[in-house]
Amino acid sequence: MTNSAQNKKSPPKYFSSLMLVPKYVTKFQCLGGECPDTCCSTWTINVDKATFQRYRRETHPEIKPLLQQFLVQEDKDSDVRHGKLNLRPSDSHCGLHTSEGMCPIQQKLGEDALSDTCYVYPRHVVQFGDRFEQSLTLSCPEAARLALTQDDAFEFVSADFTSRLATTPVIASTRGYSIEAMDEVRIFLIQLFQTAGLSNTERLVTVGWLCQQIDHLVASSMQSEVHTLLAEMTAMIESGSIHELVDQLNKQQATSVTVFSILFGVKSPQEVRDNQRDVLDRVRSGLGITADLPLETISDNYVRGSKILAEDGGAGEKLTSRYLLNDLIRETFPWTRASAMEHYRKLLTRYGILRLMLAGVAAELGNAPDDATIVQTIQVFCRIYQHNAAFSKRAESLLVQSEWTQLDRLYALLH
Ligand code: SF4
Repeated sequence: MTNSAQNKKSPPKYFSSLMLVPKYVTKFQCLGGECPDTCCSTWTINVDKATFQRYRRETHPEIKPLLQQFLVQEDKDSDVRHGKLNLRPSDSHCGLHTSEGMCPIQQKLGEDALSDTCYVYPRHVVQFGDRFEQSLTLSCPEAARLALTQDDAFEFVSADFTSRLATTPVIASTRGYSIEAMDEVRIFLIQLFQTAGLSNTERLVTVGWLCQQIDHLVASSMQSEVHTLLAEMTAMIESGSIHELVDQLNKQQATSVTVFSILFGVKSPQEVRDNQRDVLDRVRSGLGITADLPLETISDNYVRGSKILAEDGGAGEKLTSRYLLNDLIRETFPWTRASAMEHYRKLLTRYGILRLMLAGVAAELGNAPDDATIVQTIQVFCRIYQHNAAFSKRAESLLVQSEWTQLDRLYALLH
């Protein structure tokens, strides 16, 4: 083959490799038509440029009219958000989704015809240095069930997977840290969330302190000191002095987290149904959220719900720590935002909203939610936070407006 012929050959779309995964990933199978909260509901799917162009040329007699009706251009200059599949107004599902809960693109045209978003969801694959990793987003009910309820969910194993190159970001050495140093930080964080005898508050205080120091080492060009820093922090945890450190934090703003109650509105928008509506209605009712946003009542209900959760024997705390661990792994924390502290602020925002939701559910029930209810609440939280850009943007801006960008202020969210 000549060089020019080689140059014209399109790049490979797929790759197969051993991937490092938490064990729960190996057990995942899409529930298809049995799914209680299908990803095809209330999520306007982005269509990548190559798939968009393919769909525009589609001639299948059953698929073509559906695409003509629901596929629209979104941003012609974007490869990832080139088009989108609009929702069907009658049930807020993807316009192509059948009444049996199936995807006609996959059924009639095959998996290769799926957009990048539909092909990869709920999987998240990254190349970290020269290693491939995979985790799942917990906005999928089956992924949430497996990750949160199985005791061996976060044992790490190697397994063979095939994925698309276009949906596999490469995480390389950044901000003067070697990939080995970045990996060392990640291993420390994974162990932190697997260390028994620590509360989530203690873990998150430790994460905040570590992120602040990581940014500080960048500012002073001392990135090579990160190994010493991690050794000191490990000693602090092993000696138990982390407990005293957290006890000393200011607990005056015990209900700061209720600032997020404004995010839930008074009732769910029309397109929110079933599973999501159940949880959101429960949160509003438990917290007492009404149009005039009675913050004192909401705070009282939050404190009551939190107390119920604290007395539940640790189930809520355990499942929440697994949620946080999954997020840290999935996001390659703290290496995929402009700074470690920015990444930390986003993590605490999510944690604050999730705790508010769990406390609301507990307050509404009047007793500790069972595992299935906690899993459902975490899954719905992930669904609205990850699939509704307006919601997550607003949450983030609430913190900036409240000037909660510094570590000492952010810690108020942990109580
Ligand atoms: S949300 Fe998960 S289990 Fe449900 S249809 Fe989508 S991938 Fe399948």
